[in-house]
Amino acid sequence: MAYSYDSENIFAKILRGEIPNDTVLETEHSLAFRDIAPKAPTHILVIPKGAYVNFDHFAQTAPEAEIVDYIRAVGEVCRQAGVEDDGFRLISNAGRHGVQEVPHLHVHIVAGRPLGRMLAAD
Ligand code: AMP
Repeated sequence: MAYSYDSENIFAKILRGEIPNDTVLETEHSLAFRDIAPKAPTHILVIPKGAYVNFDHFAQTAPEAEIVDYIRAVGEVCRQAGVEDDGFRLISNAGRHGVQEVPHLHVHIVAGRPLGRMLAAD
């Protein structure tokens, strides 16, 4: 599948500095910031700085250095947030069935309370 990236999405605007964010980590290729509507005591989003729509797009087309940076950034944020002991959940929504609201790859890191079952119907 060929993905087309909408450079007006809200995370692209955050990356361009057009709207503010609560940054928790910035690396060469990745940015992590707090979700504006947290679903748990810890709710952090990690995004690559490159223009990727979702995980599949990133995995297919990103240079290895960006992929390594991104995966390590997710781990580093978990350690920084101190959630490794009690645990955490990573979520990356994609497309219509995944109910992805923002079409720029992001991993949600949610933690800080028991998170219940993996999936719940809305
Ligand atoms: P998703 O449904 O996986 O695309 O989730 C998008 C997430 O982005 C939601 O959890 C929103 O609360 C979050 N979000 C939207 N706008 C902002 C923003 N300006 N800063 C931080 N998080 C945001």
